[in-house]
Amino acid sequence: MKAPFIGISRHRISIDGEGVTTLAAFHGCPLRCKYCLNAQCFDNEERFPSYSPEELYQKVGIDNLYFIATGGGVCFGGGEPLLRVDFIKAFRQLCGQDWKLTIETSLNVPAQHVEAIATIADDFIIDIKDTNPAIYHAYTGRNNALVMDNLSRLIQLKGTDHITIRIPLIPNYNTAADCDLSEQLIRQMGITHFDRFEYVIRETKPHLPECL
Ligand code: SF4
Repeated sequence: MKAPFIGISRHRISIDGEGVTTLAAFHGCPLRCKYCLNAQCFDNEERFPSYSPEELYQKVGIDNLYFIATGGGVCFGGGEPLLRVDFIKAFRQLCGQDWKLTIETSLNVPAQHVEAIATIADDFIIDIKDTNPAIYHAYTGRNNALVMDNLSRLIQLKGTDHITIRIPLIPNYNTAADCDLSEQLIRQMGITHFDRFEYVIRETKPHLPECL
């Protein structure tokens, strides 16, 4: 089993939760966010290196001491890591419980992918975009019904302590009041960890292909 990666970034401190982490970013994503920062997710995957779980484990293991000493580990992002749950499960078998595994996801994936990974990963960072379906659709080209269902599902399976919700202020798509409404709605689901920030838009925007 091999998967293509658009990048591997070491020595990240307090970006993907506690401790020193290595971000392993998978190729491929079901969304088409208008200000996507990782538009290489949509390039031909053969441009990128592919690794098996064993090969990735060997590669990132160079930072084992940092992970153990700081309570860090590997953050799987992308792209959309929950399109690769079998890979992540195999990776967990290799690293055991010593490394923290964090998943950075949009949750816009089939429910069984969330069910398969909920107890395998330690922490989840969920890029919710906006809970308003019209705003979400305008920004990502997709519906968010599955996202909200999957969030409820994940809370049931995982509890709320290990879930952080990212709510971005997205210029030209939502407002601070929209972000407040998203936070309010998600707080009612029991979540208490939020990361709110504003996108900074550069003048040149990547051209993205149409939604699949
Ligand atoms: S979720 Fe959006 S921003 Fe992230 S890789 Fe996919 S299209 Fe780009």
